[in-house]
Amino acid sequence: MEVVKITPRGYCYGVVDAITLAKRVAKDPNLPRPIVVLGQIVHNRHVVDELAELGILTVEGAKSRLELLDEVPPGATLIFTAHGISPQVVAEARRRGFHVVDATCPDVAKTHRLIAEKIAAGYSVIYIGQPGHPEPEGAMGEAPPERIRLVSRPEDVDRLDFAPDLPLVVTTQTTLSQWDTQAVVEAILRRYPKAEVYNEICRATQDRQEAAVRFARDVDLVVVVGDPRSNNTNRLVEVVQTVAKKPAVRVERAEDLNPAWFVGVRRVGVTAGSSTPTHVTRAVIARLEAMRPEEAS
Ligand code: SF4
Repeated sequence: MEVVKITPRGYCYGVVDAITLAKRVAKDPNLPRPIVVLGQIVHNRHVVDELAELGILTVEGAKSRLELLDEVPPGATLIFTAHGISPQVVAEARRRGFHVVDATCPDVAKTHRLIAEKIAAGYSVIYIGQPGHPEPEGAMGEAPPERIRLVSRPEDVDRLDFAPDLPLVVTTQTTLSQWDTQAVVEAILRRYPKAEVYNEICRATQDRQEAAVRFARDVDLVVVVGDPRSNNTNRLVEVVQTVAKKPAVRVERAEDLNPAWFVGVRRVGVTAGSSTPTHVTRAVIARLEAMRPEEAS
């Protein structure tokens, strides 16, 4: 089968920096042990397993970052993930005596600063993001709860309770679909025409989405390699399906490829979320290249 390698794809600078920082911490004999990451350093099981081999523990699960603090052993070196962290969790971690290392991506940190500055200037904030994801949890911690609201779809805007004349700022999670976000922003501006909009979708996410849509037009199907928890991976699937109007499937690894998906497929595009290790995507590409179309029938 012909495989089109979509570029850019895979690791972004924020992910590379976070993993590099964690590995550097593991090599430093002067830092307290154990070394623990609060949540997955980036949303990818392969990366978490690789860090575990270096002796770096990860506390994770369907809990807030604050709740996860209870699972960190006393005296640990505690690494905050690329998704960012709320000031309340940082303060609590220091109060408990952990040695804190922050791997927040600079693009996420920029959104934190924006929210903190606008709150200090008297604004309230509408944050567009995915409920339950750690990035909104961290960023929204920059504002008092009564002055920030999370929305993810245009329908959510009807439920907002901010007064019409309140000074408002609209900002976003870094890994959203730029097309979906536009629809939510338009709904907000219909209700709050004077709101100031700061689109914080990061360059790496935008570049990967635009490439996926552009390349998808010339292939029969797109395979997106990434973890089910990775927001930017799931958005890549979504933009191929809804913007390029082509079929897309997500796989975590080469073994997940189902030959039945490729019946009648001559050209397949491959892209990867920004937390997907290169060797995992390479293995997917190799398996697809070895697949004969008749194997699929
Ligand atoms: S996807 Fe964007 S915000 Fe997230 S780590 Fe990568 S560069 Fe940073």
